Amino acid sequence: EVRVRFAPSPTGHLHLGGLRTALYNYLFAKSNNGKFILRMEDTDQSRLVPGVSDILEEMLIWANIPPDESPRLGGSAGPYVQSQRLPLYQSTVTKLLESGAAYKCFCSSRRLAWLRNAAVQQNETPKYDNRCRNLSPAKVEKLESEGTSYCVRFKLESIDVPLQDLIYGPVLHNTAELEGDPVIFKTDGFPTYHLANVVDDYHMGITHVLRGVEWQISTTKHILLYKALGWEAPQFGHLPLILNKDGSKLSKRQGDVYVDYYRSQGYSPLALLNFITSIGGGFTDREHNALLSTEELIEKFSLSHLTKNSCRLDTEKLHQYNRINLERDIRNLTKLPSLTTQLHSLLKTKYGERLTPGVTEGGGGGGVGKEYIGKVLAWSEGRIITLHDMLLPSFSYLWVVPQDLPLDSLPSIPCPHVLVLENMQEMFKSNQNNFTKDEIVKTIKDIGRRLGVKMPAIMKLVRLTISGLKEGPPVGEMLEVLGREEVLRRITHALH
Ligand code: GLU
Repeated sequence: EVRVRFAPSPTGHLHLGGLRTALYNYLFAKSNNGKFILRMEDTDQSRLVPGVSDILEEMLIWANIPPDESPRLGGSAGPYVQSQRLPLYQSTVTKLLESGAAYKCFCSSRRLAWLRNAAVQQNETPKYDNRCRNLSPAKVEKLESEGTSYCVRFKLESIDVPLQDLIYGPVLHNTAELEGDPVIFKTDGFPTYHLANVVDDYHMGITHVLRGVEWQISTTKHILLYKALGWEAPQFGHLPLILNKDGSKLSKRQGDVYVDYYRSQGYSPLALLNFITSIGGGFTDREHNALLSTEELIEKFSLSHLTKNSCRLDTEKLHQYNRINLERDIRNLTKLPSLTTQLHSLLKTKYGERLTPGVTEGGGGGGVGKEYIGKVLAWSEGRIITLHDMLLPSFSYLWVVPQDLPLDSLPSIPCPHVLVLENMQEMFKSNQNNFTKDEIVKTIKDIGRRLGVKMPAIMKLVRLTISGLKEGPPVGEMLEVLGREEVLRRITHALH
């Protein structure tokens, strides 16, 4: 059985790169009838951010790529939080010490700082000099009996370690040439990433490790650790880097790299999943620009189609996907009443009591103006990217009566402005024709003709009075969407 995992460190919120790693693992698992596991790698206790572990799990659920086993769900290979698995790491370290594959290092932090400084001065990468590898057993015993604190290091074999990367193909690294022996167990009693990662992947039965390419260099060490422990290593595949459109690094300091940000801006998870997989390959016969469902993503996923070049994300794509998704939802509004209530609650939060009656009445939907909101949504096609766009100032007239009419922007016309409005009031009240844009325009035209007001001027006057906007959608459309009752209300309001 295929078993893969997403193993974030709970040091910060989920960002796009993390979501992408999680997603590829999920797709790989699901396309192989396997299991997708979430594991918290919290061994660096100094960098933990409280609450993040839960948020990470919630984000996967929100994105519709839920884990099969996780800290919250549990599972047969649990616990799924590294800080709850310390005895396992301890016994593994003991095993490595006993076999001579690891050793205790008593170097003080001061000595390590000396080494680091010297290297930096020489313009070299700092590297531990492996001094404690060769301590005599007597010396070790003495230091221990004196209570000198120690960490445990893994003896890196100086060989070219071959790796058959599922994405990059054959890779050879000799890490020992670049680095000193890595710490696998710290003085604080916690394992480091390398040890905990290997121990857990082994004990959790992970068959394939898919992670960012920045970990590829660590994989060499991991392979050596598996070897030293006599365990079969999983297969490894490293995912190429994703970059901003301009080729710069996706920085976690930019708010727009976090999944929460996109969620709070009203992007749908599906649009986000399509967005982050729109680059870098990984799918067979994927139609350009088509929005795929999660099932389709699973079906078309193919690891061997992933490219190894770093790839650039273009947010324009996200907008496209979200628009397609939203329009689809709007067309299915009767099946998706939640869209209406969602928008209603956004509006309620933004405008509160100011919302016009049409938005809060009717339809027995608990004060949600279903009919009106539905009408607005149908009209919004092609004009919005997310539902939240309906909160933009240019749409506020749809929800609230414009607060102040910009009287100084009124067009100059050969008759008093109020006369036009009074005529409209009259006509719209008495005219029982359908309140459609064509009828509306015809009525306004008639009034203009009668009062000697040219079309552009009268249209501008009506638009300003009804919406407070100098520019905006065609007047007929605007009034039709608002509906006869609301239009009359606004004219009365303007005239009172
Ligand atoms: N804890 C590592 C991270 O934060 C996991 C890397 C891996 O998948 O091995 O990304």
